[in-house]
Amino acid sequence: MKIIAIGRNYINHAKELNNPVPEEPIFFLMPDSALLRNNQPFFYPDFSTDIHFEVEIVIKINRLGKNVAPKFAYRYYNEIGIGIDFTARDLQEECKEKGLPWEKAKSFDGAAPISEFKPLEKLGDINNINFRLELNGKVVQKANTSQMIFPVDELIAHVSKYMTMKIGDYLFTGTPSGVGAVKIGDRLTAYIENEKLLDFFIK
Ligand code: ZN
Repeated sequence: MKIIAIGRNYINHAKELNNPVPEEPIFFLMPDSALLRNNQPFFYPDFSTDIHFEVEIVIKINRLGKNVAPKFAYRYYNEIGIGIDFTARDLQEECKEKGLPWEKAKSFDGAAPISEFKPLEKLGDINNINFRLELNGKVVQKANTSQMIFPVDELIAHVSKYMTMKIGDYLFTGTPSGVGAVKIGDRLTAYIENEKLLDFFIK
C-alpha cells in the first residue's frame, strides 16, 4: 500500500505559499508508517518547530490501474475520506531552497491522519463535495472539490502514467488555503459535508 499526495491543487493555496500554479499535477509519496487511524493523537515531532495542518479529501483506490484514461478513472474508486497532510514547514522550506525532495518534511511517522471512508454514492458528485477543518472549534479551512485545479479523475490519470495504482492505495488530493501551524493541546476536527469524520488532539 502506498500513499500518493498531490501538491498545489487549489489556486488559493498555491498563492498563499507564493508558489506558481502548476501546469501538471505535482505528487509525492508517503509510506504506510505515516498513517494515523481511529482519531489517534498526533505527537508533535522534535525535529520541527513549525508543523502545519493541511486538510485534504482522500480517495481510496479499489482497482489495479496503469495508464488510466481520465474518462475511465471513476471506475477506480468508490469511497472517500478526509485526512490531514501534516507538513514540517521549516524542513520543507529548507528542502525547497536546496532543491531537495520533500520526504522528511511530509512523510514522517504520523504525518497522515485519515478518517474512515464513506461510499461515494451517498455523497454524489466527486467534483462537488464540501469539506472543512476546524482548529479548536474554529473553521480554518473550507472548500469544495470543484475548486481543484486538477479534478480527481485527472489526478488518477496523471499519477497512473508513472506508477501503477493498487487496491488499497490512498490518494491525498491537495489542500485549499488556510493552512497554519498547530501546537500541543490543539484539537483538529474535519468534516465532509456536515459529517464529522476526524477528531483528534495534538500531543
Ligand atoms: Zn498537502
